[in-house]
Amino acid sequence: MTLLESGSAAAPPVLTPAGSGDPVPHAGVAIVGSGFSGLGAAIRLKRDGVDDFVVLERAGDVGGTWRDNTYPGCACDVPSQLYSFSFSLNPGWTRSFSPQPEIQEYLRRCTREHGLTPHLRLGHELLDAAWDEDRRLWRLRTSRGPLTARVLILGTGPLSEPSVPAIPGLDRFRGTVFHSARWDHAHDLDGERVAVIGTGASAIQFVPHVQRRAARLHLFQRTPPWIMPRVDRPITGLERRLFRRLPGAQRLARLGVYWSRESSVLGFTRAPRLMRAAERLARLHLRRQVPDPELRRALTPSYTMGCKRVLLSNDYYPALSRPNVELVTSGVAEVREHSVVGGDGVERPVDTIILGTGFHVTDSPVMRRLRGRDALLLADAWRTGMAAHLGTSIAGFPNLFMLVGPNTGLGHTSIVLMIEAQLAYIAGALRHLAASGAGSVEVRPEVQAAFVDDVQARMRSTVWMRGGCASWYLDASGRNTTLWPGSTWGYRLRTRRFDPADHLTRGVRAGARTAPE
Ligand SMILES: Cc1cc2nc3c(=O)[nH]c(=O)nc-3n(C[C@H](O)[C@H](O)[C@H](O)COP(=O)(O)OP(=O)(O)OC[C@H]3O[C@@H](n4cnc5c(N)ncnc54)[C@H](O)[C@@H]3O)c2cc1C
Repeated sequence: MTLLESGSAAAPPVLTPAGSGDPVPHAGVAIVGSGFSGLGAAIRLKRDGVDDFVVLERAGDVGGTWRDNTYPGCACDVPSQLYSFSFSLNPGWTRSFSPQPEIQEYLRRCTREHGLTPHLRLGHELLDAAWDEDRRLWRLRTSRGPLTARVLILGTGPLSEPSVPAIPGLDRFRGTVFHSARWDHAHDLDGERVAVIGTGASAIQFVPHVQRRAARLHLFQRTPPWIMPRVDRPITGLERRLFRRLPGAQRLARLGVYWSRESSVLGFTRAPRLMRAAERLARLHLRRQVPDPELRRALTPSYTMGCKRVLLSNDYYPALSRPNVELVTSGVAEVREHSVVGGDGVERPVDTIILGTGFHVTDSPVMRRLRGRDALLLADAWRTGMAAHLGTSIAGFPNLFMLVGPNTGLGHTSIVLMIEAQLAYIAGALRHLAASGAGSVEVRPEVQAAFVDDVQARMRSTVWMRGGCASWYLDASGRNTTLWPGSTWGYRLRTRRFDPADHLTRGVRAGARTAPE
């Protein structure tokens, strides 16, 4: 089925709208990005019988986060049983927290097995997209030429644009510099003096590797993270055979992981004091692994657990206790040609700087590439902060859906659960478009505003606002526009049905039935 004619024979992935006279190739749906979001959207379309779609991906392979982050030690920190699609379980996971190559291979396999390959347009970067109100379609400019699409689904990722901090002198550095999301595998760290800047989720995974290779490691920490033991183990051959033969057994295992993670949501969203028990466990972990009281003090967080992402590691603290490591807590003052100067004024000669400095989250470049109705730039619409109904549809941007959009991130469990819930809402919107014969659908501004107010009201009781820390979850004005202040279950209930009454349906063809969803 195509979006334009429900029930017609499967259309080729790219087609020119009949009689339009428009020489530009056209797709019913253009999906941007091929990580969990973009691939999940493509699979959902296929399952719903929609075939006229393309997946635009700027890189040369699928995988998103799991293609780009290849640093040593890279792995998920949510158990793999849950960090995968519910409709494509993988009985072959070899560990409870799978390493990056396995997750990327899983996404490649999903691409093949769900027949997405013919829809993929690798090496196609979306440069910009503008809504054409007369024709009721999106006009896309890609690095390989123009395209029009009736519907645009953005899966460009919350953590896909590495953030390089404005450290004075960084551009003058004569050694090697790279970001953890663009690891330089050709560069040998053996015997080098290395500075690592940042102690977030990526850094705690690669620091033990760097410590083993480097002659000297200076680790620049702004705020210490809370770190819990990583309860990771190999999944035995017997378990894998069982999961292969009895998919129900794997579903049961997944359900167990789901509810054990979900039960922690109260501590994040309603009663941060519940985090105290987990804080005690983390302190015990620190005491066991770091004998030096001075170092322990520097590694002890002063904010409530959960305020920043809770990290899992068994080898990070032991690495910091090794004699070749110095933990610098005074920040970075400047970089010189061959050294890094700390806030303590000490100049440390280094050969390589590794930036574990995170991503552009609340200021993603995609905001400056999208123009909705009346040429409104998304960056302007979001001048006072990111906002979207259900984190997915944006007032003033017809037929646009954003995966992992504003306030859909999580602190306690797998983002794939949120993506699948968003896909149910988008599928409902597409069914509504097809059934009503409408040209466009767009959330009502007052519905979006009410949703955002509700989210922000609920945000007040969360650990992210009351835990006493600054984090990348907050935007420049201190608002949390990234995380969902509730359970994934609650989000799923809200997104499971597309409500036409919440939306403006425009351009209904004469004679078409204005059916509900
Ligand atoms: C190291 C690391 C570990 C993580 N671990 C976990 C975890 O354990 N659990 C969890 O829930 N989350 C984790 N996350 C968060 C992770 O980002 C999400 O779980 C998930 O991978 C997001 O998928 P996505 O498809 O939305 O985005 P991405 O995987 O980032 O994919 C976005 C894709 O869009 C493409 N793209 C972007 N802009 C354009 C453009 N203009 N034109 C064309 N293509 C474009 C990118 O190239 C990329 O392929 C982790 C993140 C990182 C960085």
